[in-house]
Amino acid sequence: MQRPMKGKTPRRPAPKRPYNNQKDPVGVYCRVRPLSCDDEECCIEVISNTTIQLHAPDGLKANRNGEYKETQYSFKRVFGIKTTQIELFEDVAKPLVDDLIHGKNGLLFTYGVTGSGKTYTMTGSAGQGGLLPRSLDMIFNSIFPYQAKRFVFKPDDKNGMEVQNQVDALLERQKRDSQQAPPKTPITRQRLDPEFADMIRPDEACKADGVDEDSSYSVFVSYIEIYNNYIYDLLEDTPTDPLKAKPPQSKILREDQNHNMYVAGCTEVEVKSTDEAFDVFWRGQKKRRIANTQLNRESSRSHSVFVVKLAQAPLDADGDNVLQDKAQVAVSQLCLVDLAGSERTSRTRAEGNRLREAGNINQSLMTLRTCIEVLRENQMCGTNKMVPYRDSKVTHFFKNYFDGEGKVRMVVCVNPKADDYEETLLVMRFAEMTQEVEVARPVDRPICGFTPGRRQRNQAFKDELSRRLEERGGPVDTGELPAVLNQLLQSLPPLPPAEIKDPSDDQTLPRLIEALERRQKLKQNIMEEYNKTANLLKMRLQDMDGNIVNKENYIHEQRGKLSEKDKLIQDQKVEIERLEKNSKMLEYKIDILQKTTNIYEEDKRTLQHELESREHRLHREMSDKKRMEARMQGMVQDAKHQWEKECERRVNAKQLEMQNKLWVKDEKLKQLKAIVTECKTPEPLSLRPPDKPQRPSREKDRVAAKRSHSPSPVPQCPPQPAPFKRGGSGGLSPAASGGVSVASCISEWEQRVPQGASGSGSNRQGSQSPPCSSGGAHAPRGAVPGSLDRRRGRQWQQREWEVPQQPPTADQELYLEEAAAGFRTGAPVRPHHRRSHSAGNERWVDHKPVTNVDLDTVLQPNLPNAIKVSTPSEKALSKCDKYVLTHQEVASDGEIQTKLIKGEVFKTRGGGQAVQFTDIETLKQENPTAPSRKRRSSEGHGQGDENAEGGWTDVENRCSVAVEMRAGSNLGPGYQHHGFQKRRKP
Ligand code: ADP
Ligand code: MG
Repeated sequence: MQRPMKGKTPRRPAPKRPYNNQKDPVGVYCRVRPLSCDDEECCIEVISNTTIQLHAPDGLKANRNGEYKETQYSFKRVFGIKTTQIELFEDVAKPLVDDLIHGKNGLLFTYGVTGSGKTYTMTGSAGQGGLLPRSLDMIFNSIFPYQAKRFVFKPDDKNGMEVQNQVDALLERQKRDSQQAPPKTPITRQRLDPEFADMIRPDEACKADGVDEDSSYSVFVSYIEIYNNYIYDLLEDTPTDPLKAKPPQSKILREDQNHNMYVAGCTEVEVKSTDEAFDVFWRGQKKRRIANTQLNRESSRSHSVFVVKLAQAPLDADGDNVLQDKAQVAVSQLCLVDLAGSERTSRTRAEGNRLREAGNINQSLMTLRTCIEVLRENQMCGTNKMVPYRDSKVTHFFKNYFDGEGKVRMVVCVNPKADDYEETLLVMRFAEMTQEVEVARPVDRPICGFTPGRRQRNQAFKDELSRRLEERGGPVDTGELPAVLNQLLQSLPPLPPAEIKDPSDDQTLPRLIEALERRQKLKQNIMEEYNKTANLLKMRLQDMDGNIVNKENYIHEQRGKLSEKDKLIQDQKVEIERLEKNSKMLEYKIDILQKTTNIYEEDKRTLQHELESREHRLHREMSDKKRMEARMQGMVQDAKHQWEKECERRVNAKQLEMQNKLWVKDEKLKQLKAIVTECKTPEPLSLRPPDKPQRPSREKDRVAAKRSHSPSPVPQCPPQPAPFKRGGSGGLSPAASGGVSVASCISEWEQRVPQGASGSGSNRQGSQSPPCSSGGAHAPRGAVPGSLDRRRGRQWQQREWEVPQQPPTADQELYLEEAAAGFRTGAPVRPHHRRSHSAGNERWVDHKPVTNVDLDTVLQPNLPNAIKVSTPSEKALSKCDKYVLTHQEVASDGEIQTKLIKGEVFKTRGGGQAVQFTDIETLKQENPTAPSRKRRSSEGHGQGDENAEGGWTDVENRCSVAVEMRAGSNLGPGYQHHGFQKRRKP
């Protein structure tokens, strides 16, 4: 029988029992007890000796609308109410006892609701002995003559059995006798337990057939109770003193090396007779009753298990003693179990709703049902589900009966009363299911190799011995010869004639004596020889016998092992195949996963690359943007300033123009007035002060004079930017040019200014000489022209190319404004007064607008004694003779360039200060790492990769080029300043 996989216990080698394929179903018998009183309603009808029919009680039928079917249940045998205990025993238990005596295991249990007659069936009552006493009786009836002496068989503590030699056994007997003063002998039984006195009538005694006479037997009994899934030893010695009494200790179940379950540390009492066995049973029974009363337990809720263990071992070759070989000891056991009531709830409590209460069911029986169910399913469907034996102690204990081999029989006890109908129905269903479970049939034990009949021969020998002893009254002479020897002696040479005819014959007698002595010697020799040979032969035979037995056993064992190994190999092959398949599958999966991982990694790398490059680009763009922002801000600021100034300037110009007109009209009016008065009182014009506007004649003369030797400034010559007039005390002078419009002058100037682009470049070393329109040569600052006016004109011509290269900045604006005002209004300007230009005596006004940014330039103008101002003031200008304006702007390449616009300070005729610009120095910083655009584009691929930084800068520059190009194509407003700033050299 195949064992299911075990849960917790590690696998041990399989039991050495031979393998058996034959199986028998569990024998299920049904016993119907009589009704307690005749007028009770009955729900069971025995139809045949194998079938019963259940009739639903009338009340129930009414309740359930006749839903209940009239079901029939079949059993191996049905025992009606009239069945006697002996009948039941003959059918149910006898075969089990028979098996026990022949070394096979058996399990017999009663199942049913409380009051159905389980205990009656198992134990019985006085005069009506149940299956248990009858079994014991049969056992002892069968083996009584062949029992071994006490303590020859000795249980070890691992469910095994040892054989002790005669001497050890004797010593132990003596020891026990001395300890237990009144030995428990069957003689006392009747006095102790009168109830058991006549359980079995002598005529009912039965006996097993085919008991091996050449074996020795010993019976051991143990008695346990399982209550609430705890195992209690009912035979355990407890102190007689009630004060010292302890609550019973529960025991645990163990599995021996043959996979048989046993209660560890359970008392096993060796019993030598039925009476003694009864006595022990009774002891346990009493203890059980006491415990139930003390602990207020319900006896119907506990299972009692009475185990009869039979040890047998062959006698030795002489048939005298038990063979001292543990391997030859066979132990079989019969388990007699009186199960707890199968009803789902206590009978003494909750009587009314017990059928509805499913929670309180006896867990062990529930597990038993489950185990049977699983076993049946496994056997019928070929499945290998784990049978939950371990879930309860009862099933765990039964495990080796269902899983191993032997006979299992169940007596289903039923009370036919209608009240029990529903419970009985469940019992029937369980019984039906149990019948379908099969248990391996046990095989016959291999017989030992000794000659049969040893015990008889030994007995006969002993009998004969004692007979002869009685006859002769003395010890048996070993010289007594068997018949064979006599025959042998007769075949010896005849004796010489022993007749003495002559008294003096002294030869016959000595010859006879000699012959007889010789014969005697011969006889002795032969006897010795014979004995020796016989002994030798005997020994050899014994040896051979032993050998053969051993070999046979060995072969048997090996065969068993071989078949097990075969099975194991087969199983393992299947397992290996499965594992191989699995591993292939897994390898394939790993491969796929590897590939996927690779792809993902590749993706990751690419994405990381992309991310990095994008980050770089972003970084670059950010910095570009920042720079651009800065530029834009600068430009916006510039443009704003420019336009503010422009507006102011225009307003001023307009004002001036208007004033001028006003003044001209005024003048005309005055002239008219003068003409009118002149007619009255003539007065020389020359006496008038020259600067006074009240002298129009003089003024007119002057204008005319001017016109005569100097061309009109507007159409012929660009306006003179030099006069710088601030807070002039002389006020406004009448315009020398007469009808020349200031506004037109300004607009003309303005038109020239943006056109005068100059590639001032990045010359930081010094100012570049502006191109001179007149001579093309550089006009040194100190060169004094022929006349002031001419010089002024020339200077203006220079300035035309030199100064207004860019749109006027805030400071230039100031200057232009003043210049325009001063010039166009024709304000009277004193001839240039140059201060002393001796070396080192120059005094500078260093004009640095606050908006300037500190660019950290190394080269700074060296201006000793300069007066530093952020806005030029009259006071500062009056003290100095040189003026320098530090002007910053954004060059076409985006870098900030600084221009030092230099000029000379003149005193105006009106007492103000004017600055004439003479020179511009341009300072510009460039990033040395950034090569010029031309070079950049010509370089490129050759070195790009070798120098990461260079490459990076290159890319950046290229970007800026690209941006610029885009800007040129007007793609985005953000880049337009590039285009705006772009200028070409004329
Ligand atoms: P259980 O052990 O199932 O609870 P018992 O064996 O204690 O039931 O039986 C209850 C009562 O019924 C006992 O008094 C017993 O003597 C009686 N009884 C049971 N079966 C029979 C029977 N087959 N014949 C006569 N009396 C019986
Ligand atoms: Mg009972």
